[in-house]
Amino acid sequence: MAYLLQSVFNGIKDIVYPNNCVICNNYVEESQNCICKRCFSRFEPTWLEDWIDKLRFPEGIDEVYSSWYAIDAVNDIIHNVKYHNQPRLGEELGRRMAAEIPIDELGEIDLLTAIPLNSVKNRERGYNQSEWICKGLAKAWNVPYQYNLLKRIKYTSTQTDLSATERKKNMENAFTSTNTIDSLSIAIVDDVITTGATLSACAVVLKNCGASKITGVSCCTPQFGY
Ligand SMILES: [Zn+2]
Repeated sequence: MAYLLQSVFNGIKDIVYPNNCVICNNYVEESQNCICKRCFSRFEPTWLEDWIDKLRFPEGIDEVYSSWYAIDAVNDIIHNVKYHNQPRLGEELGRRMAAEIPIDELGEIDLLTAIPLNSVKNRERGYNQSEWICKGLAKAWNVPYQYNLLKRIKYTSTQTDLSATERKKNMENAFTSTNTIDSLSIAIVDDVITTGATLSACAVVLKNCGASKITGVSCCTPQFGY
């Protein structure tokens, strides 16, 4: 009986709030997901590879992992999360990242945090997409998360059009932290890791506060060694 009621409820819910894929608009069976199986199968996993040796700016970072390559489907999703206020999609990305980067294949991670908003424009939006991704990942990994570990003290324009050296300069003294971090191993979550300039700036600050290890984790990367 309970099963029947649940089925009827789900049927009504689907009519009132149909759950369609954010990419292809086809129906998504799993109610917790916003991306259908077919679209997700087009994501290209990087297969758990620590690419710290190929990162342009590794200072302060011990390991770095990205779940997928930044192909169109992934970029579109991140764009959606970033500009269309979709916390559910952000959490789904985090959850799916956890499947690509299993926690038991990493060293000990005590705490997750997200990179603070990276521009005045983002701040005006009023939400930080990396926090939602961080939340989804933290839940799936069963690791606690804390958003306010880092504070942004310098807001800059978008980094997309900057050279690697300009990105690095842009990030100088951009973050601070007043926390005392007692030898914790911390994973910092971002949507995209490219040169590592932003991640490194955050990592150095947290190391100065006492973090023992910093792992960078992102949804995607344009390519290893970019
Ligand atoms: Zn789809």
